[in-house]
Amino acid sequence: MKKLVVETKKLADNIEKIKSMTSSRIIAVLKGNAYGLGLVETAKIMREHGIDFFAVSEIEEALRLRSEGITDEILLMYSTANHEEIRCLLGNGIIPTVGSFASLAAVNEVATAMQLSAVVHLKLDTGFGRYGFLPDQVDKLCEALKESSGVKIGGTYTHLSSSFAKKPGITFRQYDTFMKCIDQMKNLDVDPGMLHIANSCAFLQYEKLHLDAVRIGSAFLGRIPIQNRWGLNRIGYLKSCLSEVKTLPAKHSIGYANTFRTRSEVKIGIVPVGYFDGFGVEKTRDTFRFIDIIRYLYHDIRSCKKRLYVRIKGQNARILGRINMFNIVVDLTGIEAGTGDEVTLDVNPLFVNPYVEREYI
Ligand SMILES: *Cc1c(COP(=O)(O)O)cnc(C)c1O
Repeated sequence: MKKLVVETKKLADNIEKIKSMTSSRIIAVLKGNAYGLGLVETAKIMREHGIDFFAVSEIEEALRLRSEGITDEILLMYSTANHEEIRCLLGNGIIPTVGSFASLAAVNEVATAMQLSAVVHLKLDTGFGRYGFLPDQVDKLCEALKESSGVKIGGTYTHLSSSFAKKPGITFRQYDTFMKCIDQMKNLDVDPGMLHIANSCAFLQYEKLHLDAVRIGSAFLGRIPIQNRWGLNRIGYLKSCLSEVKTLPAKHSIGYANTFRTRSEVKIGIVPVGYFDGFGVEKTRDTFRFIDIIRYLYHDIRSCKKRLYVRIKGQNARILGRINMFNIVVDLTGIEAGTGDEVTLDVNPLFVNPYVEREYI
């Protein structure tokens, strides 16, 4: 048995802290089951704290929010030219992202057929290489927009590729490119609507990038790929219990690949939690830079010696051997613990299977 515990007071603290750091509108990014915290419950907590704009990565997430009575603005963060998807979005009042001429034409066509004016957010590709119009397409985009009477621009945005990096060079170049495109649009008499570019790392580090709105996800969980200088609480931990407690003799191997061998007789506990639950999956800090990959490889090679712990009765219990798909073995030396006692483990909620029950405390 296990549960992912979400400390709602700490989450509320983070929300308030983030709110106090900006006067821009906050778009709460709730993709990936709200980074694992639970989509609907998290949206409701956000709303209680005055957040009234959400962004998701899947249409299913947006529909789920609608069916749970969330009436606020919801932005779908990928661009689609699929008529069926667009009909579904417009029919449910979900804001499409338009990032290509094909999606613009499709949204215009569907909106016209549905006899409505579709509010969209335009996406510009300032260097991510995924969704969005390229800067040299802006002139043509403005022309096309003037021909698209079924489309109304609610906002324009771009996504940053390196906001976690130590040096802000790439981020500021993307910002400059974005602002040039915006000027160009204005010169061509196209109102770009609300402007947003910052994700969590950009929001926290560069106030200049706040613009009209900020799109925040990971900062709400206090789990960011940069040093947490803002005192954001880390949200979420896994709670399980000891399924077995027993003694292994000296010189006995533990786990796959026999990476651990007991020196003397040892009292062990087994916890039914493993990789499948997202435990031990997360790499701390960013693995985006080559040097970090080398560093992690080095640590992995040494990892037979790397010590990982869980908490039992307020004490650290070391994990012995490898983390398995569904189980771990811990050292109970010096810990008065028996079968059924609670075990807590740090885990990034994002990686915790959605089927694991969430408990809100
Ligand atoms: C995930 C995502 C965000 C939020 O990123 P965080 O770093 O978690 O704040 C913002 N914008 C887009 C387009 C995203 O995909």
